[in-house]
Amino acid sequence: MAANSEISSEVVVIGGGLHGCSVALNLRLRGVSVCVVEKDAPGRHASGVNAGGVRRLNRDLAEIPLSLASLELWQDLPNLVGDDCGFHATGQIRIAETDAEMQELSDRVDELRALGYDHEELVGRQELRRLVPASADHCVGAVVCRADGFADPYRTTTAYYRAAQAQGVAFHIGDGVMAVKRNGAGWRVETSTETFTADIVVNCAGAWADKIAAMVGDFAPVAPSAPMMIVTEPIKHFLDPVVGMVGRKLSFKQAPNGTVVIGGGHRGVAERDTNTTILDPAGLAASARTVVAVFPHMAAARMVRAWAGIEAIMPDTIPVIGPSMAADNFYHAFGFSGHGFQLGPAVGRTLAERIVTGASQISLDAFSIGRFPQPA
Ligand SMILES: Cc1cc2nc3c(=O)[nH]c(=O)nc-3n(C[C@H](O)[C@H](O)[C@H](O)COP(=O)(O)OP(=O)(O)OC[C@H]3O[C@@H](n4cnc5c(N)ncnc54)[C@H](O)[C@@H]3O)c2cc1C
Repeated sequence: MAANSEISSEVVVIGGGLHGCSVALNLRLRGVSVCVVEKDAPGRHASGVNAGGVRRLNRDLAEIPLSLASLELWQDLPNLVGDDCGFHATGQIRIAETDAEMQELSDRVDELRALGYDHEELVGRQELRRLVPASADHCVGAVVCRADGFADPYRTTTAYYRAAQAQGVAFHIGDGVMAVKRNGAGWRVETSTETFTADIVVNCAGAWADKIAAMVGDFAPVAPSAPMMIVTEPIKHFLDPVVGMVGRKLSFKQAPNGTVVIGGGHRGVAERDTNTTILDPAGLAASARTVVAVFPHMAAARMVRAWAGIEAIMPDTIPVIGPSMAADNFYHAFGFSGHGFQLGPAVGRTLAERIVTGASQISLDAFSIGRFPQPA
């Protein structure tokens, strides 16, 4: 029985990023009472500052069912959260610069076909030129996911946050969880000023999630990292799809206002205890060189800003989603390793289904925290 000073709900979600807000909204839509505890603000971290790529293209095989389901939800976000979240289905394309890279893409498409997936489509030089006229002459072909695209990350996370609030989810913002303790079969979740009691806790704490996992005896080898982004001044429209490369670190898109947003793998330093990131100028320069190699006219574009966000990278670069190994009534959804934005809608729906019904239509087995053995 909760003391008067305690705040009770059926579920406490730790972390108000896209995944925390999506899990909370979907639990509430299933009639569950939910509190979200967020140490900073919804969308303050990776979910609000990412590249906005909505990508099924080149997913780890384990992620494909969630990613396909998520795209369907992206297409229906106005009904789910009352906002299209700036989603533009411009397509996503992954360009090969050599015949060997083209063979790699062809093998990948064959592998997907054999598994029953047809969302990745191999295209030759001519269709590549049609889709990306500004690409350099040496590019030989590509794989394209025509229904992928990009969205506005902060707007998306805010839309989920507001939709969850409107459904009755209680948000406690600006005070982090410091302890998670057993309370009978349920939990006491403590911040510096409040105590929350709940039957079930969900850990959506992003790059800080290993600390929450450890509070209940789970081990998660999270490596906090700082993927970096560059944005240029607005330039004349030249690009529709989001572009990635087979052989180089690049994610490249032109926003509707003409600015070009460049990311794709170079990382700075993440200092998660102080919520800060340090940019790596050499990595930014490498991104800029890659852009010019593939889009020669970009040599004249001026960069106006660079930033980074703090992201949880797992050793196998796929997330942890599902029940704790160490404790009943405790679940995780973290470790999205640089590509969790697109998955947000489906992860929230699937994990809520798993929590409420004990099973989910989309298997979460591949994402078990149990795949990481406890260190000796
Ligand atoms: C620069 C960059 C570019 C990216 N580009 C893409 C992309 O194009 N496409 C894509 O699909 N993905 C992309 N990603 C990845 C994507 O942004 C993340 O995978 C996703 O947003 C993770 O969401 P999350 O809710 O798990 O984490 P977060 O957004 O980090 O949210 C976790 C929240 O937990 C809170 N928290 C932590 N500890 C506590 C505590 N003790 N108590 C209370 N609250 C706590 C934090 O304050 C934070 O708000 C990118 C990431 C970055 C950084």
